[in-house]
Amino acid sequence: MVIKCPVCLKQWDSSLKVARHVFGTGDKVHKTWVNSRGVSFTDLLIRQATGSGNQSFLILAEIIEKAQADLSEDQPDACQKTDMRDSPRAAR
Ligand SMILES: [Zn+2]
Repeated sequence: MVIKCPVCLKQWDSSLKVARHVFGTGDKVHKTWVNSRGVSFTDLLIRQATGSGNQSFLILAEIIEKAQADLSEDQPDACQKTDMRDSPRAAR
């Protein structure tokens, strides 16, 4: 299963790796994206530093997984396929 970073579209084989990438990069665009999903990037970082386990990674990984649907919906290719299927020519 390929998971893309919703910000820079780099790919990994698990959402946890993408979460690690987002934390590790930590530049303005990645921070802004995390904040735009309704969670505080800084809070997650603090929680990761002070808490035990992977809780922050898991939270971020879940957000990244949900964002994958938005990424594929934006692809123009999917729209074109639907248009072709609905056209009278394709039905013949
Ligand atoms: Zn990225």
